[in-house]
Amino acid sequence: MAVDATQPYDDQNIFAKILRGEIPSTPVYDDEWAYAFPDISPWAPTHILVIPKGPYVSWDDFSARASDAEIAGFVRAVGHVARAAGLVEPGYRLIANAGPHSHQEVPHLHVHILAGRALGPMLVQHDGA
Ligand code: AMP
Repeated sequence: MAVDATQPYDDQNIFAKILRGEIPSTPVYDDEWAYAFPDISPWAPTHILVIPKGPYVSWDDFSARASDAEIAGFVRAVGHVARAAGLVEPGYRLIANAGPHSHQEVPHLHVHILAGRALGPMLVQHDGA
């Protein structure tokens, strides 16, 4: 179910539990600012999630409240993960869903890195969209 990204941070969300090691995940990258792990239900041959270590609901929350160091560390981590996975030359897509219209499901900011095949246009076209 899509979440309301304007709600306060809920430390019982699944990615908070992953950060605390209460739910298993396979580390792809880990540093002071960010943790990356494979999406459990991949939409592309490569589908990695990168999450900040701090308690931020969404991109809106993060961009408004995070420190410059957290923002720099997180953005650099996303770039590093994609580079380390060999995705720069073939290309990749970043998605950060925020709020109901985006279909955000987990209320802890995450950036999806999608790659491994030609991904086509950005969105499926709908009549009237
Ligand atoms: P979003 O719709 O942007 O909130 O994306 C949430 C993503 O989290 C989905 O792509 C899920 O497949 C993924 N996900 C949910 N639970 C887990 C988990 N335990 N480990 C890895 N990915 C997960």
